[in-house]
Amino acid sequence: ADAQATPRARAEIDLGAVRANVRALRARAPRAELMAVVKSDAYGHGAVPCARAAREAGATWLGTATPEEAFALRAAGDTGRLMSWLWTPGGPWREAIESDIDVSASAHWALDEIVAAARACGRTARVHLKADTGLGRNGCQPADWPALVAAARAAEAEGAVKVTGIWSHFACADEPGHPSIAAQLEVFHEVLAVAGRAGLDPEVRHHANSPATLTLPESHFDLVRTGVSVYGLSPSPEVGVAAELGLRPAMTLSGSLALVKRVPGGHGISYGHHYRTPGETTLALVPLGYADGVPRHASGTGPVLVAGKWRTVAGRVAMDQFVVDLGGDAAEAGDEALLFGPGDHGEPTAEDWARAAGTISYEIVTRVSARVPRAYV
Ligand code: PLP
Repeated sequence: ADAQATPRARAEIDLGAVRANVRALRARAPRAELMAVVKSDAYGHGAVPCARAAREAGATWLGTATPEEAFALRAAGDTGRLMSWLWTPGGPWREAIESDIDVSASAHWALDEIVAAARACGRTARVHLKADTGLGRNGCQPADWPALVAAARAAEAEGAVKVTGIWSHFACADEPGHPSIAAQLEVFHEVLAVAGRAGLDPEVRHHANSPATLTLPESHFDLVRTGVSVYGLSPSPEVGVAAELGLRPAMTLSGSLALVKRVPGGHGISYGHHYRTPGETTLALVPLGYADGVPRHASGTGPVLVAGKWRTVAGRVAMDQFVVDLGGDAAEAGDEALLFGPGDHGEPTAEDWARAAGTISYEIVTRVSARVPRAYV
């Protein structure tokens, strides 16, 4: 129990914030359903508790990348609409169909495997056909789209599949006004028209991620797929600041100082001695490192609130720990080091860490590793 009371490190997850964020996003897209994207353990926040909180706040869909992530939600008791979109040949299609998980097909090989699995289990697979409207990643190229649609229509006629969705994904929605955004929407309308003429009548057409949900109502269609904003983070500085978007960061990452000590001036700190104490000073040891997800790229730049002030990582972030220089300030072993949180108690945010590490806040929270216990409040 004592170990629980003063853990080395902890990621506190505010499920009330997750619920409030889902409600705020639904208000932004009032005519669309909302899919909470809970892939990669809900961007590090914990898929099962976050999925439950999102459902409570009105998310009618959950989305995962891998089928295994979707199976874990079913195993935890989720029975609602659930879609998994990242498939490779030989994937567990049959288990997905039997678990009532919607799957995605971007190519003929996928549709063929889905049809075979559906025949084998005597069920109708629920399939979202994905077009590449311009992201250049997954999705069927527009030139091949009529053929994929025709094959899907034939599979529907046989009863092997029901095309429940037609969908795509933005490349640059986090840069409002980027010319690719309108271009992708135009292609999506063409793709939908081709599917309609072929007789497909999906339940949901969807294209919007968080930034599109927040900035582009004409992209909402029947369903918005929100990930990072569910966890209270702005998709990009250009889209806005979380609080101004009505979002509250759900994760607070902290640790307990492992050691506080006085050292003389000129002391080299951490591997490579990239920091040297400017004079006699007090050092504090923060027991989190890159194995916990603290980016090594934030060596010398990452911010952390210790003893009431922002400090900067002194020298390199190591696997399990890093050092901060408290100067003339006092602290004790066991005191709290706050790496990031909502920011309203003076602590840095995941966005601050993203800037320090040259990355995006998505990566900061998603990489908080399994070694850091999650505490749900
Ligand atoms: N849809 C798909 C296909 C995705 O891969 C993702 C995540 O990258 C999302 C939606 C959610 O994006 P965001 O976290 O920007 O809302």
